[in-house]
Amino acid sequence: MLNIRIEKTQNPKAKPEKGAPLGFGHIFTDHMFVMNYEEGKGWFDPRVVPFENISLSPASMVFHYGQEMFEGLKAYKGEDGQIYLFRPEMNAKRANASNERLCIPEIPEEDFVQAVKAVVDVDRDWVPEEAGTSLYIRPFVIATDNFLGVAPSKTYLFMVILSPSGAYYASGLAPVGIWIEDEYVRAVKGGIGYAKTGGNYAASLAAQVKAHDGGYSQVLWLDGVERKYIEEVGAMNIVFKISGKIVTPALNGSILPGITRNSVLKLCRDWGYEVEERKISVDELVEAAHNGTLEEVFGTGTAAVVSPVGKLRYKDDVFAIGDGGIGELTQKLYDEITGIQWGKKADPYGWRQTV
Ligand SMILES: *Cc1c(COP(=O)(O)O)cnc(C)c1O
Repeated sequence: MLNIRIEKTQNPKAKPEKGAPLGFGHIFTDHMFVMNYEEGKGWFDPRVVPFENISLSPASMVFHYGQEMFEGLKAYKGEDGQIYLFRPEMNAKRANASNERLCIPEIPEEDFVQAVKAVVDVDRDWVPEEAGTSLYIRPFVIATDNFLGVAPSKTYLFMVILSPSGAYYASGLAPVGIWIEDEYVRAVKGGIGYAKTGGNYAASLAAQVKAHDGGYSQVLWLDGVERKYIEEVGAMNIVFKISGKIVTPALNGSILPGITRNSVLKLCRDWGYEVEERKISVDELVEAAHNGTLEEVFGTGTAAVVSPVGKLRYKDDVFAIGDGGIGELTQKLYDEITGIQWGKKADPYGWRQTV
């Protein structure tokens, strides 16, 4: 248990007006959680303080070698006025998997969840309540030693910041076009692909720009060795329904283990679908698209929950998925998971927590 000090702001900001477009990641709340780490001392001084700029030496290690990890989850306001989190203990677990890979000290799981709940509680009036809106939660750790040598830092900052965000789908699920990238790669086995860390995103930007220039909203990555097997989308895992079966790339070390992916697979299994976590070659996918057995394609991630894919591009081929609309299973998964998140549906798995 952390003994969290709480210092409330004397200058609360104006909250966005009801119904004003929130977008994503532009607006920040009044407070943030902060905790320091020093080698030999451990994590110390956990506190919720006014949101403000932080001061770091230009020599801070995070600026040079990218030793940092982040997480992403949301707080949802139910119709009953309660504030809910969705499986935050999974974010705590994954944070430590990233920490271990990046030589960042472990944060006890219960402390991570406590920190998230503490800052959300102080800023609970910032959780928007219009349909589909939520409070995005961004926990992260940065290396703060002032040192230009390459080594794990001896000091760190763990922070949690909050950003009210708009409905991902303003008017119902909308299919996206996806660019299968055959030149750049995101990650390789043995690298940092399974860690949630900035470096993976830095590596992804060039392909994202290329895809956007080509008129596609997301990149689908192939494996980093043969560029033959499907990995994942920019910030989402990818799931296919082929001949009635649910097929998704196995967690092989270069793919981020999404919490939404985990939840979707659990629901599919419980609904009686056969679920295969395995290698899927891009050739298998192209063939399934051509012979009509590729029934549904969707991305999974905290931002959108599920994101239907209407169109795939690979080299010079463009394939429409199904009739280009929303698959039946895609819609059902969206309704079920968002129902649990906003407290509208029963929660048989204990996925929902109250703040
Ligand atoms: C965060 C993330 C995901 C999705 O994970 P969720 O826990 O479902 O939000 C997928 N891929 C990458 C690269 C990510 O960073």
